[in-house]
Amino acid sequence: MITIKNKRQFAKMAEAGRCVAAVHEAVVEAAEVGVALKSLDLVAAEVISDWGCQPSFLGYQGFPAHTCISPNEVIVHGIPGDYRLAEGDILSIDAGAIYGGYHADAALTVPIGEVDEESARLIEVTRQALWAGIDQVRAGKRVGDIGHAVETAAAPYGYGVVHQYVGHGIGRSMHEAPQVPNYGPPGKGHKLRTGMAVCVEPMFNLGTPDTVTAQDGWTVATADGRRSAHFEHTVAMTDDGPVVLTVSDLLTARPVG
Ligand code: MG
Repeated sequence: MITIKNKRQFAKMAEAGRCVAAVHEAVVEAAEVGVALKSLDLVAAEVISDWGCQPSFLGYQGFPAHTCISPNEVIVHGIPGDYRLAEGDILSIDAGAIYGGYHADAALTVPIGEVDEESARLIEVTRQALWAGIDQVRAGKRVGDIGHAVETAAAPYGYGVVHQYVGHGIGRSMHEAPQVPNYGPPGKGHKLRTGMAVCVEPMFNLGTPDTVTAQDGWTVATADGRRSAHFEHTVAMTDDGPVVLTVSDLLTARPVG
């Protein structure tokens, strides 16, 4: 679970992170009304290849695509297929890349055209919750501090905070210990240390936190069919403090103070 032992390892993971950010920029730019989700996956595949990286998701436990693309009521793990984007949809794009054996993983939710006020607020609050969680990623803090910060961001809006899927450590594998839940008592759980990298990834639902998995074995949607948003960054704890590796300047740039 201690994943980054030296600057060379960090540099590889940082390159994977830049690749993931570039994937997001390209996919978001291509995500227009009428576009099929499977063509967005091809955009992602090309960027990953251009960067000399490998996809983290393709083939992971048999997952059939480079990205997880999850529209509207789909929370996570959507398989990009024939569905074509419509005005007013919201779209979660989750991508991972490997460089030199090191993974980076990130997700974001974007509006397609004009979206209703409720959806716009869900997206914005989930994005803010990600950064509230990231602010807790510091050596000496505990995993519960992250979850508590995320959960606290959802509370005023009554959103369903998904408990069934959680953030995670990351490094030579996409999913490493510790688990990073989006809830929990502050000051409890695994202690964060320099050299670790974690993925913080709030998933908030407009309605119930309950989930259902489709017959494809992957697509996880809200049990009540209401919309869901998902944001994620990979954060490394270095000697110089936390560094967010997967920031796309275009979309979510913000320094960690
Ligand atoms: Mg993840």
